[in-house]
Amino acid sequence: MTDLASLAREQELRFLLVSFTDLFGTQRAKLVPASAIAAMAEGGAGFAGFAAWLDLSPADGDVMAIPDPASLMRLPWQGDVGWVAAELTLNGEPMAQCPRRLLRRQQLRAAELGYQLRSGVEAEFFLLQSDGTAIADPADTQEKPCYDQLALMRRYPLIAELLSGMEQLGWGPYQADHEDANGQFELNWTYADALTTADRHAFFKVMVKSLAEAQGLRASFMPKPFSQLTGNGCHTHLSLWDGAGRNAFHDPGGELGLSAVAYHFLGGLIAHAPALCCLTNPTVNSYRRLAAPPTTSGATWSPAGVSYTGNNRTHMVRIPDDQRLELRLPDGSAHPYLLQAAVLAAGLDGVQRRLDPGPRHDNDNAAEPLAAASCAPLPASLGEALEAFAADAVLREALGEEFCRAYERLRRRQWNAHRSEVTDWERRTGLDG
Ligand code: GLU
Ligand code: MG
Repeated sequence: MTDLASLAREQELRFLLVSFTDLFGTQRAKLVPASAIAAMAEGGAGFAGFAAWLDLSPADGDVMAIPDPASLMRLPWQGDVGWVAAELTLNGEPMAQCPRRLLRRQQLRAAELGYQLRSGVEAEFFLLQSDGTAIADPADTQEKPCYDQLALMRRYPLIAELLSGMEQLGWGPYQADHEDANGQFELNWTYADALTTADRHAFFKVMVKSLAEAQGLRASFMPKPFSQLTGNGCHTHLSLWDGAGRNAFHDPGGELGLSAVAYHFLGGLIAHAPALCCLTNPTVNSYRRLAAPPTTSGATWSPAGVSYTGNNRTHMVRIPDDQRLELRLPDGSAHPYLLQAAVLAAGLDGVQRRLDPGPRHDNDNAAEPLAAASCAPLPASLGEALEAFAADAVLREALGEEFCRAYERLRRRQWNAHRSEVTDWERRTGLDG
């Protein structure tokens, strides 16, 4: 593989952002002059782990972030700077808490079974005023704002720059639209192997936020910033491919054109859904989006329970065509690497144990929800998701106990902090009680 210093020279980069995504999904980086990258590429860039969202103490030694040259991307808006994803070591050992490494480990498990996960994400976001209090476009007020052409084109300067940036990066962007909430947008790029998609997802969030900020806007991927509007999903499209480069999910003779392997993978998603939520819906706010009341547009488009269907957007998993599954559970706060890692771990368990996903349901699950007997509820809060995660021995084993404990400690602390907050709603409804 070409080393980072040569790549930086060839591409005439002046600086490199050596970057990692901590356990809460925050991108951390050091800006390294190209002249110093050779040593960094080998020994890593040093970080005080406690200063990021990692389960470490201030007394721990430096976390070293070792960049992976294969992930190098040139910042489309700052052409002399390259971004490179790094993996973490502590005391010379790979860190169990490193999200990117965790995903690679799941990829190796898939490879042992003869498969590669290919995935795509739909990372929806809002464009807000710079102080984050309201949507940026005062004219974006339609009751059904989805696909609003005028509102989309009022944001042309930003959307065009994002699409062109993704083209330059070779991601194969193919559409952008105004989404179902006022102020909400979505840009789609072509699916790829799960690690490539995770790197792109991490970079996409940096790119959208940076370019929005440069135009005086604030981009937010928060799951549900406004209670009456549709939230930010991060629907994830999934297929396993075999060693011959064939889509192992496709079978013209199978139900809806999907193979037995696809249905077993789906069985894994169904079986582990409550625990998965801890990673696909990892914040307190995530649970305002799931099982939420209808929005002003008429629908939330987000799942209320554990179920699957055909080409119908009211269930947790949609089978849009004969090539893939769409998991509609994840939201904008999902961690780019942990999302893919957890989904793959759950799906592989289904494949290995040949799990049956149960019957498909074709009802409108928003208007006429299935009874609990045929559609288990999703966790109603981060606290419930943490409980489900604690109880899922299979998922924990796959992700590694050390990672699970570290992740739980940080999230549990966040949940407890939330529980100690008294909100405006409580005062509004309780002062005179
Ligand atoms: N924003 C919706 C969600 O939170 C999804 C809308 C769509 O189907 O594109 O899942
Ligand atoms: Mg969407």
